[in-house]
Amino acid sequence: MAKIVSKDPKALLNQEFKVLDHGFVRLIDYMGSDAAIVQAARVSYGEGTTRKSRDRELIRYLLGHWHTSPFEMVEFKFHVKLPIFVARQWIRHRTANVNEYSGRYSVMKEEFYRPEPQQLRTQSKTNHQARSTEELPDDQKAAFAEHQEESQAHLFTEYNRFIEAGLARELARINLPLSLYTEWYWKIDLHNLLHFLRLRMDSHAQYEIRVYADVIGQIVKATCPMSWEAFEDYRLNALGFSAVELKILSGAIGDFAPDKEALVKAGLSKLEAGEFIHKIERIRQSSGDDD
Ligand SMILES: Cc1cc2nc3c(=O)[nH]c(=O)nc-3n(C[C@H](O)[C@H](O)[C@H](O)COP(=O)(O)OP(=O)(O)OC[C@H]3O[C@@H](n4cnc5c(N)ncnc54)[C@H](O)[C@@H]3O)c2cc1C
Repeated sequence: MAKIVSKDPKALLNQEFKVLDHGFVRLIDYMGSDAAIVQAARVSYGEGTTRKSRDRELIRYLLGHWHTSPFEMVEFKFHVKLPIFVARQWIRHRTANVNEYSGRYSVMKEEFYRPEPQQLRTQSKTNHQARSTEELPDDQKAAFAEHQEESQAHLFTEYNRFIEAGLARELARINLPLSLYTEWYWKIDLHNLLHFLRLRMDSHAQYEIRVYADVIGQIVKATCPMSWEAFEDYRLNALGFSAVELKILSGAIGDFAPDKEALVKAGLSKLEAGEFIHKIERIRQSSGDDD
């Protein structure tokens, strides 16, 4: 995947970032940035702050404490071209506005997704939904590629035949496969977009949607760098624990008592260091909760 590096997010507008063999993500428009989040959060105090370090701390606080509505002040509109089976997963995220290419109104384009050979893997034995890391033998890969090529060409020829015979487009299309590409405009606010990205950048998400999420993630990073940093810290690379897990941890934590100054040196703000010490205390208290 191409790395999107831009200090000026406006330079990203209307660029086609290639995804899979025929797909893309294009940023059509966006509204707001980290400053809009800070401004909304501070509405009760009047003017927004000009101090960057304070803005960063505030954004981290908001994200870390699930104060989500300021993140709804930022919006993104994307044009996405994606295989239909990816679109079916994507559309489950209901908190977006969508307008899709219509196979009733327009003739479908002959563009199908064909996985790269290294993506042709065996069924995972540990995750019932996923592929494993083991690639198919070369002869099986070749057989699948041939099967795709022949069946897609056949189905599209038949589609064209019935279109030319006068069958309504809305019916002629119904035998086309999920590997066909579709396109849509997709508009979403930053809060819900981060939720989408947390689920779809995760290693449990299917590779073919993950690659789209990765590109969108880079666009968000360029547009809202402080929010992105906080998102990586508090969501993407963070872990939650159940009550039972906390109880187990409380037995293992012993007399671990972190020093605030050392925590600040390790990269936490003073506020975050205090919260971390409080969390350790809470883990310790989880030990005898059911007695
Ligand atoms: C790895 C993975 C595997 C999956 N496997 C399956 C599967 O096998 N089968 C399947 O059917 N789905 C599957 N899904 C889809 C999943 O169950 C969710 O539907 C999808 O991720 C969208 O999440 P969401 O509802 O939180 O998002 P959104 O629709 O964007 O909603 C965001 C949040 O808004 C709230 N919300 C939105 N709409 C409503 C509403 N109408 N009522 C109440 N609250 C609402 C909820 O709090 C929700 O979490 C899978 C998802 C992932 C990431």
